[in-house]
Amino acid sequence: MNLVPHGEPPVYFTFPGLSALGVPHATTTRHCPGVAPWSESAAPLRAEAAAALAPAGLDLARLTWARQVHGADLARAAPKGGFAGIADVLLSTERGVALAIFTADCLAIALCDPDVRALALAHVGWRGTVRGATQAAVEAVRGAGARVERLRVAIAPSIGPCCYEVDEPVIAQLSSAYPSLWERWVRSVRTGHWMLDLWTANEELLRRAGVASERIENPRLCTACHPRVLFSYRRGNRGRLATLAALP
Ligand SMILES: [Zn+2]
Repeated sequence: MNLVPHGEPPVYFTFPGLSALGVPHATTTRHCPGVAPWSESAAPLRAEAAAALAPAGLDLARLTWARQVHGADLARAAPKGGFAGIADVLLSTERGVALAIFTADCLAIALCDPDVRALALAHVGWRGTVRGATQAAVEAVRGAGARVERLRVAIAPSIGPCCYEVDEPVIAQLSSAYPSLWERWVRSVRTGHWMLDLWTANEELLRRAGVASERIENPRLCTACHPRVLFSYRRGNRGRLATLAALP
């Protein structure tokens, strides 16, 4: 299952699996206009972005965003949307409220149960992985009535094991959080340096939380490998991708 590009060059991508469920969603590229760095007082997507994303079925009038801090705290979107506080997991149980997570290398993970009104978006980098943000997102939708075995999950473009070199302080926290798992997620490249595979790590954490492998959609598109289309913190740090989704 590959991402579907929209526009030439692509302004945003969509996931075939989420589209099949009728979930309006998009991950913007560096060609999407009007994506501002988030701030607490103003919506981080301007009118140009709203127009560019309208074909995806996203209405940004009730956009919900948070101040992301690489944690695992949850914020529930208000029916009218708006700033949701400090959080890295957003939950919606309202039709049409567009959740937004901003990334440049970190994973944006969308989870929804097609049979229940429950949608979560999570921001997950290595710190979020250590702190359990992915598991918190599963718990968030479960708490809203979702059944884990029915969950459909999509992982947006993010840094891959090809480009994500980490050092001892990262490995110390990862190995402490997941003593029996972490070695499966890394490849040693030289003394004190490893390539970290956050895709495999979070897919495994999703499966261990009860999500079926075949319901996890991960195009494995690396932000650092595709600088002409995507933003990468590690390669240039010139902006943020926005991943947005709303309940249909
Ligand atoms: Zn790469």
